[in-house]
Amino acid sequence: MTEIKTTCPYCGVGCGVIATVQQGEVKVRGDDTHPANYGRLCVKGAALGETTGLQGRLLHPVVDETEADWSQALSEAGRRLQTVIDTYGPQAVAFYASGQLLTEDYYAANKLMKGFIGAANIDTNSRLCMSSAVTGYKRAFGEDVVPCSYEDIENTDLVVLVGSNAAWTHPVLFQRLVQARRENPALKVVVIDPRRTATCDIADLHLALSPGSDAALFVGLLNRIQGESGWLVTRVAAFCGLPVEAISTFYDWFITAPRAITLYTMGINQSVSGSDKCNAIINVHLASQKFAREGCGPFSLTGQPNAMGGREVGGLANQLAAHMNFEPADLARVARFWGTERLAQTPGLMAVELFEAIARGEIKAVWIMGTNPAVSLPDSHAVCQALSACPLVIISEVMQDTDTSRYAHIRFPALAWGEKNGTVSNSERRISRQRAFLPAPGEAKPDWWIIAQVAKQLGFEAAFRWQHPHDIFCEHAGLSAFENQGERAFNLRDLVTLSREEWDALTPYQWPTGHFPQRRIVPVEPQSHAAALQPLYPLVLNTGRIRDQWHTMTRTGYVPRLMEHIAEPVVSVSPRDAARYRLEEGQLARLSSARGVMVCRVNIHAGQREGELFAPMHWNRCFARQGAVNALVESRCDPHSGQPESKQTAVRIMPWQPAWQGELYARELPALPVFIHWWRKAARGVSRLTLAGDKPLMAWLISECHSHGWTVQTAETGGRSSLLAWHDGALMLGFWQNERLPALAHAVIEDAFVRPPAQLAERHALLNGQSVQARSDEGRIICSCFGVGENLIRQAITEGCHSAAALGAKLRCGTNCGSCVPELNVMIQDFPENALKTENISDSR
Ligand code: SF4
Repeated sequence: MTEIKTTCPYCGVGCGVIATVQQGEVKVRGDDTHPANYGRLCVKGAALGETTGLQGRLLHPVVDETEADWSQALSEAGRRLQTVIDTYGPQAVAFYASGQLLTEDYYAANKLMKGFIGAANIDTNSRLCMSSAVTGYKRAFGEDVVPCSYEDIENTDLVVLVGSNAAWTHPVLFQRLVQARRENPALKVVVIDPRRTATCDIADLHLALSPGSDAALFVGLLNRIQGESGWLVTRVAAFCGLPVEAISTFYDWFITAPRAITLYTMGINQSVSGSDKCNAIINVHLASQKFAREGCGPFSLTGQPNAMGGREVGGLANQLAAHMNFEPADLARVARFWGTERLAQTPGLMAVELFEAIARGEIKAVWIMGTNPAVSLPDSHAVCQALSACPLVIISEVMQDTDTSRYAHIRFPALAWGEKNGTVSNSERRISRQRAFLPAPGEAKPDWWIIAQVAKQLGFEAAFRWQHPHDIFCEHAGLSAFENQGERAFNLRDLVTLSREEWDALTPYQWPTGHFPQRRIVPVEPQSHAAALQPLYPLVLNTGRIRDQWHTMTRTGYVPRLMEHIAEPVVSVSPRDAARYRLEEGQLARLSSARGVMVCRVNIHAGQREGELFAPMHWNRCFARQGAVNALVESRCDPHSGQPESKQTAVRIMPWQPAWQGELYARELPALPVFIHWWRKAARGVSRLTLAGDKPLMAWLISECHSHGWTVQTAETGGRSSLLAWHDGALMLGFWQNERLPALAHAVIEDAFVRPPAQLAERHALLNGQSVQARSDEGRIICSCFGVGENLIRQAITEGCHSAAALGAKLRCGTNCGSCVPELNVMIQDFPENALKTENISDSR
């Protein structure tokens, strides 16, 4: 049994993973030696082995919906791209890449587009994640240099988390912070976030400021540090909707702490003034000298596994390559290095404007690599319309069916995690190897190979003659070091001459920051968010990630245990808003904006501010009907970074009480009538949908089963009805409905598809729900690692487990990755006896 050291493909923490394959089963564990995680993994990382199956994979090239071989698909892509270039010029072509690509893939795509097609229209989903952070660093330091490391968190006196629910989005880094605080009780943690999230579990101070007002808080701090009077604390308090005392406490802590580090992410970046917010944060570190020394600095966390690698190669439309810009000396240098006379001379279109150019018909051909813009870009209905009208859509994809692949003319099957080979860079500039431990399935190929082959079709073979990703890595490192005598901090000169064997064995390498070309305090004038609140749309909708899902669910959505924590799109609502809009916990609601509609389940959350809602970004048209939140979000962008304001959209909410709700299990799902709302859920060996509707479905389902020649059994008692369909003794489909969603023992139903009940009586019991009613209702799964439900945890608390450790000892919850510990602590706090204790403590203060 061989152990392969590789890197987790999800968030920007970049955890080291050890993978083994035993009798076809992939097992993973954390790599004790990797400096990002020292053996820890969160629940998503721990479940990686469950994502490596071939279910739903795209395994062959497809041209115009017909399976093709590679030579046909490549020549057709080359011919069609060439026609667009010849007819409309290179500016009519665009690439849309991804922070999921490996650095070698990214480098190849950037080189082909900017260097040889000759336009800079290559942008990436990282634009949606951290492009404001890039702009902030470049304006302050003259280069996109992240001046911090994870170790700084363990060697500081104050950690400020802004716009980051790190407990869910960067769980292993959060666990490092939890550990650091345990070892150093003097370490203070401030969380700045409109919501009381799981991250607040360890906060000494939580500043629940008005959405989007962060810049004022930091400008006020800068004024305090510099003794200026522009933004006094009273003005900041009014702007941010915070008490003066809380702001003063934060300012005092920051100023008096010998060392302080500020971690920030999408809550800061995804804003029309995201770049300014980043600079407001950087400014206070520069002004207070809490910068460029241990335990100090403004630390932007990247959301994606290789967002940083994309920044290193220049994978954004307004960067050139290897931290060089569209300036004469850089243009000449890159052209010399690549040996091209076709280098793009001006920046290209950034993500949102790129898709707007497609909609206007200016971009005639787009190649989308490893990302799902039909879900992840704001105003997603408009993105879908643009793609449907685009004359040439090429995708490189791992999955057969995604919201975006439905618009593709040419589909290239790409390798997935576990099959591909290359490098990624995490938030702290650490380059780690992703290594293959599984064979390439079907005809899937590495992204870099596909790009090089298309380059060959376009006549650029000489510049793309790589045989192995090692060749590309060394070329990329070579460009970073080319004519670089220390002018550019990004310099991989130590890695340029790695042999294939050395590259294969490369251990995690953090590139040094070198010197900072400048340390500039950028003037910032705080702005509010730009969501147009009005009587029709009076609420601010915030969007973001949940704990157990990743991006558009193309990988995590198929893993049953990752679906158990939150299985449907939900909207978090404050108790007052719930009362105002007559919403009940667990009921369905319609959220709508001027752009679109979403249907989701209500979660009444005391940590949600009045007038504000939160909904996850993951669901899409493959996993739900009307579950995609970006259908509602407007495409307003920061003018400097081009990053959309995904955190604030004006919406309204209305309860929806459908006539019935139900659960449908089937070996093959029928194409449901359009009036049915559905949510796909991962199940073992069978497909499962939760359904809701106002019109009846039962008669339609019966006739559907009869059309297949299946034997149908039905039952009806009170408001509850059910259906089983059989064929040759096998259960083909089961459906249970009621006025409210029926609670069922899903494992029993899944078993019945594998081992159908032999006795008639057992079948009747199944039909009537007697054997499938949830026997011990454990409630919503809180600990995904050990499958421990909410009701079981509350029971244990009632029985005397009044700490996360005590719960862990009894039920094991929280003892593996630790991601659920904040939720366990909230439940412990909710217990009446504990709530009383807390009240007494606050009274006595
Ligand atoms: Fe992967 Fe979790 Fe580590 Fe992020 S924190 S890299 S998702 S294991």
